[in-house]
Amino acid sequence: MSKAEAVGVEQSEKGYFGEFGGSFVPPQLKEVLEVLDQEFNKYKDDPEFNQEFLYYMKEYVGRENPLTFAGRLTEKLGGAKLYLKREDLNHTGAHKINNVIGQILLAKRMGAHRIIAETGAGQHGVATATACAMLGMECIIYMGAEDIRRQELNVFRMELLGAKVVSVTKGQGRLKDAVDEALNDLVQNYDHTFYLLGSAVGPHPFPTIVHHFQSIISKESKRQILEKEGRLPDMVVSCVGGGSNAIGAFSEYIPEKDVRLVGVEPEEAASLTKGTPGVLHGFKCLCLQDEEGNPLPTHSISAGLDYPGIGPEHSHLKVSGRAEYYTVTKKEVLDAFQELSRTEGIIPALESAHAVAYALKVAKEMNNDQIIIVNISGRGDKDVNEVRELLKKEL
Ligand SMILES: *Cc1c(COP(=O)(O)O)cnc(C)c1O
Repeated sequence: MSKAEAVGVEQSEKGYFGEFGGSFVPPQLKEVLEVLDQEFNKYKDDPEFNQEFLYYMKEYVGRENPLTFAGRLTEKLGGAKLYLKREDLNHTGAHKINNVIGQILLAKRMGAHRIIAETGAGQHGVATATACAMLGMECIIYMGAEDIRRQELNVFRMELLGAKVVSVTKGQGRLKDAVDEALNDLVQNYDHTFYLLGSAVGPHPFPTIVHHFQSIISKESKRQILEKEGRLPDMVVSCVGGGSNAIGAFSEYIPEKDVRLVGVEPEEAASLTKGTPGVLHGFKCLCLQDEEGNPLPTHSISAGLDYPGIGPEHSHLKVSGRAEYYTVTKKEVLDAFQELSRTEGIIPALESAHAVAYALKVAKEMNNDQIIIVNISGRGDKDVNEVRELLKKEL
């Protein structure tokens, strides 16, 4: 597909973005996902449903969040104007809450009173437990035994918020094993249970649902940049783990072919930059795999980007040429983390620092009448300890 044809990318066939996506799951699960797809389509354009979603976005999450002009950083770099979309200012400190609240409201409409989710580093689990507490839903979080050990504080947070954290000891006791357990639970309890997926990954319809709820990021940023600058940005930059904050930051600009869309991955988990087509966790995407199609281990310094695959829509945006994806090194990320802290008084999440790192490199090469929007997916409080350790090692 040429660049022009890729503009306004739509799903070509149900659940497919080009050749990517689909639903490679056992028959019982397929039925459950088909019902989910029907129910989502019933509510996604329902004015009452959307009004309720926007109510919680405003009154609970604190949206809309600002599009902050990074004046000192812009001046220092001497190139493009940098604007920061402030997902770090949301309640719970990141973008994940947007999707979590959207899916729980959908679950309620579907008659579920029990929410299940899996979490690796714990960020999706904490966001889910938070919104379940607020909306009065029972919350069960599946977590690998190994991850529970490494993420004690997040386990305590989830329990504090009233969630039950289930330790998964099967397999290697990691994220993949927790996903399997959560899916077992869903197949047995689907009449009153909703499986809440945290990123733009998984079998259809999850990538489409996550896109829908996270698109609030670019709906706001587009309105905000038009108000401030009277024109669209030249580039939007986001970090990419599973792809949810990036798809949210990109979505309203996908049809605007003059806006460059850039996703940034860690060098150690570069699914888009180095991956090949394969089926992972029930959908087709670009993923890091060995010759037999087994996912390769990844080791990123930011837990939220440590995933061997990438959402199907990003896979398609990459192959079709509509979006570009680059990697940055650990050192560039640590530098960007400190630079944004010192120059703008904003400590970004390590994940978000990937996007900042790329922006720092390209802004210099661009003209000062050009505009870059950097999506700050979350705040860095959770990462300061780790950064402190990493910087000690560097010395
Ligand atoms: C989870 C997380 C990410 C990565 O997930 P995506 O689905 O790629 O957005 C990025 N930033 C923060 C702050 C996160 O918590």
